[in-house]
Amino acid sequence: FTGKAVDTLISEKITDIKVDEIKATPVIVKESTSVYDAIVTLFLTDVGTLFVSDDEGNLQGIVSRKDLLKTAIGNTNTHQIPIGVVMTRMPNIVTVTPEESAYEAARKIVDHQVDALPVVKAVIENGQEKYKIVGKVTKTTITKLFVELGKN
Ligand code: ADP
Repeated sequence: FTGKAVDTLISEKITDIKVDEIKATPVIVKESTSVYDAIVTLFLTDVGTLFVSDDEGNLQGIVSRKDLLKTAIGNTNTHQIPIGVVMTRMPNIVTVTPEESAYEAARKIVDHQVDALPVVKAVIENGQEKYKIVGKVTKTTITKLFVELGKN
């Protein structure tokens, strides 16, 4: 033991760990997916947030449990509403990159009061900046990391 304070060791650890090492597999759907199918997808894949991409895997939006509940409770026909009209859309999405730290990701989740962040890589396509979805970091990801760190 180097004599360093324990909190210093913990903070070094969580800033050393990169998003790339902890990211989970995102569930991605198309903008044309119906609210009904999105809800079914939430249950089948056991996630709370769906990411929305175009055919090239570029981030377009994000749909949370409450976005879907809000639509469903209005008892409109959820088969006929595409998630494109209920999702939160780019550029209003908080993202992280694989190179950012686990600490940065956790801080964004807390500061922006969201459950999940898409992990993205910026690319230029046809002169436009696009963001490829390469993973996700959620409250569960951070909790699992916390448990892992507690083991040692
Ligand atoms: P829930 O709405 O189920 O509590 P969240 O707290 O994650 O889940 O979502 C709150 C709102 O923020 C929703 O309208 C959702 O579309 C939006 N949202 C979720 N994740 C993000 C994100 N990473 N960046 C921006 N907005 C988000």
